[in-house]
Amino acid sequence: MRRYIVAGNWKMHKTEDEAVNLAMALIPLVADVRSVDVVLCPPFTALAPVGEVLKGSGLYLGAQNMHHEQQGAYTGEISASMLLPLRVSHVILGHSERRHYFSETDSQILEKVKAALGAGLIPILCVGETLAEREAGETESIVAGQLHGCLEGVEISQAEDLVVAYEPVWAIGTGRTATPEQAQEVHAFIRAKLTQYFGLDLADKMRIQYGGSVKPENASELMAQPDIEGALVGGASLDAGAFASIVRSV
Ligand code: PEP
Repeated sequence: MRRYIVAGNWKMHKTEDEAVNLAMALIPLVADVRSVDVVLCPPFTALAPVGEVLKGSGLYLGAQNMHHEQQGAYTGEISASMLLPLRVSHVILGHSERRHYFSETDSQILEKVKAALGAGLIPILCVGETLAEREAGETESIVAGQLHGCLEGVEISQAEDLVVAYEPVWAIGTGRTATPEQAQEVHAFIRAKLTQYFGLDLADKMRIQYGGSVKPENASELMAQPDIEGALVGGASLDAGAFASIVRSV
């Protein structure tokens, strides 16, 4: 049985104090949930204080991005070796907002995935099609291309921990969620691709999250699908009660 993983992507929200308050409000609401990995991904500026608050809570800390080099002349960037001492264990890579607003390419994301795995961080690799691509019947080819581009050459020995997040771009922040059937269809396709790359045993253990307007009202139906093992949550993760109820619905 795959262990579920629910991550909150706080994006560019919350000052240091606000982030600490949100984490403190959330911890007691999910303290008794032992069967789900819960990951909080605040902005870089709040990683250290939120990491302190999470100590001993059983919750994990995630970053929203990182650079693939360990150090160097990359103004404004953050490396895995800077994240690790802050107790960061997970990192979101290839989020559609990074792809669209910051022109991140599959090959750059692949470098990041390899660097994260090499450093012992768990990548949450995001893939997903736009509305135009879905309507053109290209969902599978787009997702297959992203998976291939972002996973090519990743060592089988390192892949087990990797998490894939299927996030249809048309469902992110729009209030329009994929139906459980639509999501399951793509998740099964992703698992088949992972099987092709890493073999049946490993692909069977890997976790695939759904992301895109997940809310307390739709979470349990999505999570009940056979190939959905958790959620990557944006907007609803900014509210402790809503996020806790998504975690609990799993
Ligand atoms: C996200 O940012 O990854 C996301 C899924 O956002 P939302 O839940 O707001 O759609």
